[in-house]
Amino acid sequence: MARILIVEDEERIASFVSKGLAADGHRTTAVADGRVGLDHALSGDFDLMVLDIGLPGMDGFEVLDQLRSQGSRLPVIVLTARDSVTDTVSALEGGADDYMPKPFRFAELLARIRLRLRTAPDGGPARDDVLEAGGVRLDVRTRRAKIGERELELSAREFALAETLMVNAGQVLSREQLLDKVWGFDFDPGSNVVDVYVGYLRKKFGPDVIATVRGMGYRFNN
Ligand code: CA
Repeated sequence: MARILIVEDEERIASFVSKGLAADGHRTTAVADGRVGLDHALSGDFDLMVLDIGLPGMDGFEVLDQLRSQGSRLPVIVLTARDSVTDTVSALEGGADDYMPKPFRFAELLARIRLRLRTAPDGGPARDDVLEAGGVRLDVRTRRAKIGERELELSAREFALAETLMVNAGQVLSREQLLDKVWGFDFDPGSNVVDVYVGYLRKKFGPDVIATVRGMGYRFNN
């Protein structure tokens, strides 16, 4: 269980996110005003914040800026407009840990929240922003992947799968674990989506980076 702060002035989205997170076993608090959101975020009572950009009181960029300038490392996932590259870049440069373009499916948001919570369980400065294994470099803040100097294009889901495998590099993860961590509860357990996406990553990373461990799952090689 994590304590999650939702700062979003659109009632419908706040309630949809809040209900979904509660169903996943988390405790949520939703506020609609940026200034109130910042106070809550600085209270130390939360493990993660989901932050909208367009807010009354104080916009999301300002909230993020004040939060980071006061030394808080609270993991923040910013909700951005689908086409606004500027918003996304500004959010990441402003210290957001991740972003979610609107409109989004809840499972996508949940997958990102779970990754953030797992990598920084106490909201502290827990994790490295750059993961490296098997010759692949993954920058989880800028969401860039590289092999040597070569930049790789990864979809959001490919990135989430690569991140999950790389955080656990050297260990075998079962299909069920990967489905749960990357796809959230919104999946069909009989689905071969994990195998399909591992195939996509192998095409980009090379055939030997991710090993199939027969009857068990997949392992990202160090
Ligand atoms: Ca808004």
